Amino acid sequence: MRRFEGQRLLIATHNAGKLDEMRALLAPRGIEVIGAAEAGLSEPVETEDNFVGNARIKARAAVSATGLPALSDDSGISIDALDGAPGVYTADWAETGNGRDFGMAMQRTWDELEAISAPEPRNAQFRCTLVLMWPDGHDEVFEGVLPGRVVWPPRGAEGHGYDPIFMPESHELTLGEMSADQKNTLSHRARAVAKMMAGSFA
Ligand code: IMP
Repeated sequence: MRRFEGQRLLIATHNAGKLDEMRALLAPRGIEVIGAAEAGLSEPVETEDNFVGNARIKARAAVSATGLPALSDDSGISIDALDGAPGVYTADWAETGNGRDFGMAMQRTWDELEAISAPEPRNAQFRCTLVLMWPDGHDEVFEGVLPGRVVWPPRGAEGHGYDPIFMPESHELTLGEMSADQKNTLSHRARAVAKMMAGSFA
């Protein structure tokens, strides 16, 4: 596995929630983190049907636009009773044609579970795939999974995306009710970052 020796890392995401989490998770390493919006990057179209493929598209676009090493994140929620949906299409379920509406996306999630009378608990996993890519095109891939269940109604105003309807296994709070610090001890993203730290930042 290749080690990361640089001081600056471009985080190839336009998602402010993900960027905040990455900054907090990488801060202890003293690495300067630059966001995609800050670097003036546009969002590439995600044309793959799997997390690693889409993460590579984002990392490659960021590396070729800036010449910096880049870290991309493709993530989403996979619901067992919906055969893994929305999965790679998690962000698409929030698309209105005029920005993203996660209230609508969470409602659709619940409506689809109700429509098939899915049994409780409505098990699901948040998945995060990280691609760390160097300017020469070499990459390393790290994955993190957070098991839990979908609950209704949405609870909590913390976090982002689908956090208010996801209750991690062995917890009685949704991710939307947890502080950022608490979420960062257990999230799928934190788990993937921990693997990256043990691998490329060891
Ligand atoms: P993408 O990785 O840009 O395709 O988007 C993934 C989508 O998954 C985001 O827009 C969020 O809706 C959702 N998502 C990913 N990670 C989280 C999380 O930690 N909490 C809540 N929603 C998340």
